[in-house]
Amino acid sequence: MLFSFFRPDMAFCDVYTITPEALKELGVSGVVFDIDNTVAPYEIERPTEKMKEYFSALRSAGIKMAFVSNNKGPRVAMFNESLGLFYVCKAGKPSPKGVRKCIEHFGLAKEQVLAVGDQIFTDCLAAHRAGIRFAIVKPIQASESRFFKFKRFFERPFVKKLDWLNPKNALAKIRKQGRR
Ligand SMILES: [Mg+2]
Repeated sequence: MLFSFFRPDMAFCDVYTITPEALKELGVSGVVFDIDNTVAPYEIERPTEKMKEYFSALRSAGIKMAFVSNNKGPRVAMFNESLGLFYVCKAGKPSPKGVRKCIEHFGLAKEQVLAVGDQIFTDCLAAHRAGIRFAIVKPIQASESRFFKFKRFFERPFVKKLDWLNPKNALAKIRKQGRR
């Protein structure tokens, strides 16, 4: 059904709630992250210590990671410099090409890969067109441009009544739902 293409498969308050334990429970071994407003605000050029710790915890758990961003090369390269992840910049999401490249790079089955992003019409659509699950996170920045507010308005029907997982309830709820 068309609606399900725009509907995230799960919702997390932030990326830090997507722990190695949660991913294991979901049967996920590879994660494709959007950057802007998903893992970092636009004005943060390099990952903070908290972000670095998060990525290193996932890496230690054997989770493969990549960035797929619609932003330009220099921004993505600078953000990724200390992390050294596989990445695709100027990905043109909702095109599924960048996501597909990451799945191929991981060498994993589609069922084992999860995309994480903050937008429906780019991130969610790219993930679903590539045939993988999509987890939405709440956008980091509260004050956004008029254009973004306009987009958010049209996203509303698709994020309505999502069960937003937070650090306190995420693992228990995922376990209850079981793997897909
Ligand atoms: Mg984004």
